[in-house]
Amino acid sequence: MIIDYRSDTVTRPTAGMRDAMFRAPLGDDVFGEDPTVNELEEKAAALFGLEAALFCPSGTMTNQIAIRCHTQPGDEVICDVNSHIYQYEGGGIASNSGASVAILEGDRGRITAEQVSAAIQPDDVHRPISRLVSLENTCNRGGGSCYDWSQIQRIKQTCLEKGLSLHLDGARLFNALVFNKEDPKNYGKTFDSISICLSKGLGAPVGSLLIGNKHFIKKSRRIRKVFGGGMRQAGMLAAAGLYALEHHVDRLEEDHRHASIIAHCLSLKSFVKEVLPVETNIIVAELTPDMPPTTLVEKWKKNGILIFAISPTRIRMVTHLDISPSMVDHTLQIIENI
Ligand SMILES: *Cc1c(COP(=O)(O)O)cnc(C)c1O
Repeated sequence: MIIDYRSDTVTRPTAGMRDAMFRAPLGDDVFGEDPTVNELEEKAAALFGLEAALFCPSGTMTNQIAIRCHTQPGDEVICDVNSHIYQYEGGGIASNSGASVAILEGDRGRITAEQVSAAIQPDDVHRPISRLVSLENTCNRGGGSCYDWSQIQRIKQTCLEKGLSLHLDGARLFNALVFNKEDPKNYGKTFDSISICLSKGLGAPVGSLLIGNKHFIKKSRRIRKVFGGGMRQAGMLAAAGLYALEHHVDRLEEDHRHASIIAHCLSLKSFVKEVLPVETNIIVAELTPDMPPTTLVEKWKKNGILIFAISPTRIRMVTHLDISPSMVDHTLQIIENI
């Protein structure tokens, strides 16, 4: 048995999801004629109380489209140093949008309104123009940490005062919504654009959504075409997303429970220096110098457990739809025995 904690992207579509994909009514989405894509976009927009949404192949694409939409070349994007948009999107902020980045040192991926204020450039020809703030919730490299709603509101206030747009990389927003029992409509009211991933905790094989007002999504649709992201009978994929939104949101609590059980077990081991606080489905552990992450990865791999080394001192484990309670029990036994 292989138990794969490398990412929540490793899930396979369930039987129910495959059935929904197989049955989906289809059309050419570049012509706006795929009924299933249209249904997914409408459903996602309504969920956040926003006007429109755009179905894209990946969360990298939804983020990059949003950045391109909000900025002009020479503008600056403000974000945490560990943000996915900065760390893991191939330098896309520069290559797709010609924008520069002001990186902030947040607390496990979370920045504050004071940090944002301090990073805003003065009106000076020498400087880039601060244009966009991008937040990530939950924070991937922050170990699945969630923002406090009050901090988001304070950042929004700063953006309003300074005329900046506010984007949310919500690849794992549903984990935060479930953890904090928050209403997605509040997010819709606060952010100028929201990106969500269907292919992470929600368990769809492919797909992300960019959500915003009509004007923003119209502009985004054009950029998606330029980026090569216009898809044809994409309803087969959208059907998986619809199924995921209907069946796989509430169950995220189970992933969070599994993560906290594993984190507790890990924290008792002598080779673990510290486990970052676990709020959602990501466990990040700092190891002691006598246990390099790559050594632990190899040891566990021999026992059928796959994890990632994310730095020279840290490992990451992610729980998801394809991790069952019995797999967690088995994992605890392996951890006990190492
Ligand atoms: C996974 C992820 C994305 C998008 O990744 P894709 O693999 O391009 O879908 C964006 N932001 C965060 C925080 C992520 O974890």
